[in-house]
Amino acid sequence: MSIDDIGFATAQIHAGQDRGAAHGSRVVPIHLASGFAFDDFDQARDRFSGADDGYSYTRMGNPTTAAVERKLAALEGGREALLVGSGQAALTVALLGLLRAGDHLVSSRHIYEGSRGLFRENLAGFGIQVSFVDDIDDPDAWRAAARPETRAFFGESIANPRNQVLDIPLVSAVAHESDLPLIVDNTFATPFLHRPLEWGADLVVHSTSKFLSGHGAALGGAVIEGGSFGWSGDAARWPQLDRATHGDRAFFVHLRNTVAGRLGPTIAPFNAFLLQQGIETLSLRVARHSANALEVARWLQEQPEVTSVDYVGLESSPWHATARRLLARGDGSVFAFTVAGGQPAAAALIERLELFSHMSHLGDVRSLIMHPTTTSHARLSDQERAQLGIDPGMLRVSIGIEDAADLIRDLRAGLDAAAAATPAELQNAAIARG
Ligand SMILES: *Cc1c(COP(=O)(O)O)cnc(C)c1O
Repeated sequence: MSIDDIGFATAQIHAGQDRGAAHGSRVVPIHLASGFAFDDFDQARDRFSGADDGYSYTRMGNPTTAAVERKLAALEGGREALLVGSGQAALTVALLGLLRAGDHLVSSRHIYEGSRGLFRENLAGFGIQVSFVDDIDDPDAWRAAARPETRAFFGESIANPRNQVLDIPLVSAVAHESDLPLIVDNTFATPFLHRPLEWGADLVVHSTSKFLSGHGAALGGAVIEGGSFGWSGDAARWPQLDRATHGDRAFFVHLRNTVAGRLGPTIAPFNAFLLQQGIETLSLRVARHSANALEVARWLQEQPEVTSVDYVGLESSPWHATARRLLARGDGSVFAFTVAGGQPAAAALIERLELFSHMSHLGDVRSLIMHPTTTSHARLSDQERAQLGIDPGMLRVSIGIEDAADLIRDLRAGLDAAAAATPAELQNAAIARG
């Protein structure tokens, strides 16, 4: 079932389903099993050699997980998907499938903080170097960062917290000049708003813990391959890939069997089932998230206590034009805004809110808020935070699917509290500007 032939809403419900399996159960059941018995001696041998592609052990594959993998591959317009236990696990296995000691990655600087830590500390510990690109819209900046040892480019379709949109046609063209794959984290956009593989990316990764699940009840992560990259360049680049046996599936076979299969970040079948339940309503939720976020962002922009709103859906965003070219149906609902009065004002605002949950998560049906300077980005120096555009008065929100009017009323109360915590001279400056 291909996204080219059927609508997104139909695919999110029907793609990947195995009709007739499991006694006709219309919802893919939870195969809560560590392993699967072999019918006979020969079948055991064939499962291990790969001649028979049935199930043997849940770390290598599970029917519930596999159904969700087929669904995700269909929704992203990809060839195949691998589901693992978290978004961080997905990015880790994708990169460890491509990069070995001595290799190099070129990454956007504007990425999820957990991913930056993974690159700077964990990958460095494995002897893998990473260069960061600041101006992601400049093809020469990407070109200049590449080296002979570079094995991949990486970026996020919509980034945190400034809502930069990655110009995938531009970045993938530079990557492909050197026969390198582009990996895109599509967590913020979801395939409902944007399918990176259709714009030139080669691999997509997701934290399925966020919008894809929506319920905020289970972590998960996915890697999806488009299938057109081929891995046919210089054979010395990826000696770990067995192209003679597996052809252009060599990377994915390696990823599933040798990287995820050995490192073992397996998703529990129960969590895969919860993800499946979430995906079935993705289009409804993301359309509503995006509409609510636009309404809230427009309102915030008009408030005197707010000095900036970094939402790509606003015309004031430097990435608005890129978004209109690449994002089909909305702009997602995770963005930042900054209050006059810095950290004391931000703290007062958060403490006053009643509907917004104060927590480190996003893409939930509930609205969420967090203060990056003292949480996700607390380990950075002031200079590094300034380089990423993170102000002490900045708040990161993930707008849920409640009624926008109620969210706005909650934020109005929060802004009143922020104003009360803001020194008079900053308030006057904000009012004069507003
Ligand atoms: C949350 C997130 C991750 C990490 O995913 P987990 O499921 O929390 O491990 C990676 N990238 C982005 C953009 C995220 O929002």
